[in-house]
Amino acid sequence: MSEQNAKGWMDSHERIRNGQMLARSFKDPVDWLGRMDINRHDFPYASGLIADSFHEWYKKEAALSFTESWKWCVFDYAGKRLADSGGASAPDNSLWEQIAAVSLQTARECTLHIDEDGMEKAFFVLPVRTRSDGEIFALLGCAMSAEQFAKGGRNAAEAMAKHFSTCFYKQFEYIFVTDLASVHIHEERESSRRSLLFQIVQRMYDSIDVDAVLTEVIASISAMYPGAELTLYMSQDHRSAHPQVKPLPLCWNQDEVCGKAFKSGRVALRTTNKDQQLVEIGLPLGGKQGVYGVFHLVMQVPTHQNTDNIDMPFLSMVASTAGTAFENAKLYERSNQLIRELRMSNGLTERLNQSLQLGETFEAAFEGLLEMFEADYCCILHYSEDKGGLEAVLCNHPALSNEMIEVGRGIGGKVYSFGEPVILTEYDQSGTRSKLMDFTESQSLIATPLSVGGEVCGAIMLAHRRPYYFSYDNFRLLQALAGQIGLAVGNALLHAEVHRLANRDSLTGLYARHYLDQSIKEMQDCDFCGTLVVFDIDNFKLVNDTYGHQKGDHILKQVSDILCASIRQGDLAARWGGEELALYLPQLNAEQAYVVAERIRQRVQEETSPSVTVSCGIAEWDLTDNDRASADSLFYRADMALYEAKNNGRNQVVIDLKT
Ligand code: GH3
Ligand code: MG
Ligand code: MG
Repeated sequence: MSEQNAKGWMDSHERIRNGQMLARSFKDPVDWLGRMDINRHDFPYASGLIADSFHEWYKKEAALSFTESWKWCVFDYAGKRLADSGGASAPDNSLWEQIAAVSLQTARECTLHIDEDGMEKAFFVLPVRTRSDGEIFALLGCAMSAEQFAKGGRNAAEAMAKHFSTCFYKQFEYIFVTDLASVHIHEERESSRRSLLFQIVQRMYDSIDVDAVLTEVIASISAMYPGAELTLYMSQDHRSAHPQVKPLPLCWNQDEVCGKAFKSGRVALRTTNKDQQLVEIGLPLGGKQGVYGVFHLVMQVPTHQNTDNIDMPFLSMVASTAGTAFENAKLYERSNQLIRELRMSNGLTERLNQSLQLGETFEAAFEGLLEMFEADYCCILHYSEDKGGLEAVLCNHPALSNEMIEVGRGIGGKVYSFGEPVILTEYDQSGTRSKLMDFTESQSLIATPLSVGGEVCGAIMLAHRRPYYFSYDNFRLLQALAGQIGLAVGNALLHAEVHRLANRDSLTGLYARHYLDQSIKEMQDCDFCGTLVVFDIDNFKLVNDTYGHQKGDHILKQVSDILCASIRQGDLAARWGGEELALYLPQLNAEQAYVVAERIRQRVQEETSPSVTVSCGIAEWDLTDNDRASADSLFYRADMALYEAKNNGRNQVVIDLKT
């Protein structure tokens, strides 16, 4: 039975269902088959089946030697000749059609005797009727000699026409049976698909872990095609430890199915015809927000089998279910990650807020980052203007602690000078050089510039010995945290500046008196001696009156600068009040201080313009003093000595003699 014939049937599935319903109402489950029939509505579609049945039937009939000389043909319900047994002795079409038309009109057999080549021949058509209603759905035409016709040939032909009807119904029933079987197979396959899909969906949605979803879908597809080779190529952001999951190649070949599937988001198929048919399938793993990867399935299919057996729609259904489940698991993971990051960020802010000291701020950041990222190493670089480079203010590798890094050199130096963050997954392959990475033998690095008020002031580097240790999320998070650290560093710097300003005199830049008082008291607690030197500009009122107040200020500043330039680190220079300045020289006695004071006195006289002089009083203390703890008495005694210097004619240094 040709496929076209089968397709010619109207509502054949409907008939099958009817047949099945009928089957339920018969005692014998196949009884309904013998009662199935065609009706008037089917006649226009039955031509193919009639012609096929005719050929099948004729093959058998021709085997009977006595019929060999008979010629046969078949007509449809409208009298159109559909097929014949061949041979030259048949009358022409128009004659046959006339006989057929008469037969259809009369609904009976029609016979015509014609003289052909001097021999009388009988041409007749026999109606073929439906088995239930007896309607004529075909005519069987037969030609034989008039003699054969008269001697029982007609009767034999009638019996053979009956047999044709049987052959037709045999073919007709065959269609039903094969349809029924294919519907059964189809339904069975559908049902097993449904149950498999249900199981897969259930298992996939039960897993909220990304890796578990991938493992599940790989297992499901492998179970569907046990002999197939399955690999899942995932894009860089979605790495997995599963052995069948590999990173997506960066470039694809032209005919690569995976590339096609990944780019288009649709299933791609490629077959190679050899002895065995090699089928390659690219199946995208995609969700609502994009395609995350692609399954690559390679399997052998014998050439005689159709690739329809691979069940592509089902495969893509599994893949899209997996894509959605993957996306859900990913979103769940992402929200957890964000919560974790938020917690970490809050934790770091809390630590950073605990102190306003720059050193402590760096320490809080350093410890917080090491803990949060579980990094092996952390290095914080801060630009130092005094030292003209980047100082490793904190690093947990001793060789780098307090090390100076040149701006623009190494990864840290470049991060600082370009102001751009860096991520390295495999240092050995990166082609760059870094002291931190070399010393610590690390492979992974994330580094970000540290900025205060929009200006880069340093860099933060986190390293790990393992390659591919830091994720892109880690990299992003470090940049966000660097913003917070920058704010905290800015606050600490601001705080230090405010503190500095509060302790300084704005005109001279020297310490304020309260700071000097406080510092002397503190130093007296741990030192064994110290000296206070008080300076007063001579006749300053006159200077002001002569040159004006502004010039007076300028001179005051000159004297202050001379003071600052004449002392060591650790000595304190302060404005004591008005045009009186003071020095505190820790761990120096009066004689030693005298040398310093005298040098200052001379420099003031020589270097100020317009030139002024200073008078100076010196008072010392040491551990033997009874009242060493009193800074006030030290000030008093220095003031007394100054008073004496004034009285003695100014421009001189006088040491207070301890009473
Ligand atoms: P002596 O040698 O006795 O110290 O004489 P003197 O004029 O310096 O002393 P006096 O105490 O009479 O005057 C101090 C003057 O210093 C008065 C005041 O105008 C001036 N002075 C105090 N503070 C400042 C200041 O900040 N700027 C200026 N330009 N002058 C100041
Ligand atoms: Mg004075
Ligand atoms: Mg004075």
